[in-house]
Amino acid sequence: MPLMPVSEALARVLADTQPLGIEEVALSDAQGRVLAEDVTALRTQPPADVSAMDGYAVRAEDIATPPATLTVIGEVAAGHPFAGLVETGQAARIFTGGVLPDGADTVVIQELTRRDGDKVTVEKTAIKGRNVRYAGIDFKQSEVLLEKGRALTDRDLMLAAAMNHPRLRVHRRPVVAVLGTGDELVMPGSELGPGQIVYSNGFALTALARAAGAEVIDLGVARDTLDDIGGRIRKAREAKVDVLLTSGGASVGDHDLVQKALKAEGLDLSFWRVALRPGRPMMHGRLGAMHVLGVPGNPVSSYVCAFLFLLPLLRKLSGRSDIETPPESAILGRDLPANDDRADYLRATLESGPDGPIATPVQNQDSSLMAPLSQAGCLLIREPQAPAAKAGSRCRILKFGF
Ligand code: AMP
Ligand code: MG
Repeated sequence: MPLMPVSEALARVLADTQPLGIEEVALSDAQGRVLAEDVTALRTQPPADVSAMDGYAVRAEDIATPPATLTVIGEVAAGHPFAGLVETGQAARIFTGGVLPDGADTVVIQELTRRDGDKVTVEKTAIKGRNVRYAGIDFKQSEVLLEKGRALTDRDLMLAAAMNHPRLRVHRRPVVAVLGTGDELVMPGSELGPGQIVYSNGFALTALARAAGAEVIDLGVARDTLDDIGGRIRKAREAKVDVLLTSGGASVGDHDLVQKALKAEGLDLSFWRVALRPGRPMMHGRLGAMHVLGVPGNPVSSYVCAFLFLLPLLRKLSGRSDIETPPESAILGRDLPANDDRADYLRATLESGPDGPIATPVQNQDSSLMAPLSQAGCLLIREPQAPAAKAGSRCRILKFGF
């Protein structure tokens, strides 16, 4: 199979993938969840004309030539409307959030008044409508304010509550099973024997999937045997996960058994080599409804592949309307040579400059180096056959989350 362009590989990952089922959740559980339908305001906000300040509700014409002394006929606080009518020469004491009484059209802040018994003297004029929040200036009943496909932010939860929704209909969260492979791998905190290395990539892959709203099942680390790998693949199927994410064992060495084990389970392979650096031996297929993404073991490759392919897949499964993140523009921080026939995703630091963010690729782009990956703020995209580029020219980047 020839190397597949990144865009085509991604199109294959996303093909025939529908958003997961719908469930209802309480607002307090809805952060980050993706709306399965438009959310309509069930009420108007504010529901009536209300005061924005503490002061006096008056008729603007009465205070046109200050000082103007008015008779205070009542009091309005938030939650305690005043039933009376403010007539010419009258005022009502009012507090923030109080409903503007009939007859009044303006609120004078208390700092501009002098109170004496049931009289108040207004020292300064105010234009009609001053300090009044009119009914519906925030939103009106039956307006759609949050659209289907939106991942709910903290502010959205505030808005949904104000629209009077105690619960929201959202898509089920994708479940991802993370499986590491390799005889050499031991857990962080272990005494390392000869030839052993610490299992690291799964921590980033898990965190990345969770940040994208997925639930993660940890399938641990399989030894490099068909039996062990096969057994854990079956566990993923039994758990009915939406995505199995394997790392390692993906190339063509004698110990690279992941694809073989998947095929023995009946994998329908869609591709396994992508014109990509880092991450050429990246694989995708389906085992029934379950997606399988096989990423290389090298930590940087595994992360870049998950960033490029797992994230959009999770967004599509989650029902999000924004599936692919468009690259942003930045200024190249150093000269780059011409690229070959594989798309390059260079780890680059990011700093702000006078003309926008400056992305500087780290010197050593080896796909095993975790320290520079941690320092990088983005991936700088170099298309296949891109010509040499000078520092100061424009480039395209994909920013890491946080
Ligand atoms: P592989 O894709 O299995 O050939 O692994 C490529 C390189 O990545 C080897 O040096 C492995 O030791 C290393 N590697 C594989 N899996 C992991 C992992 N989970 N964490 C850290 N390094 C890994
Ligand atoms: Mg391996």
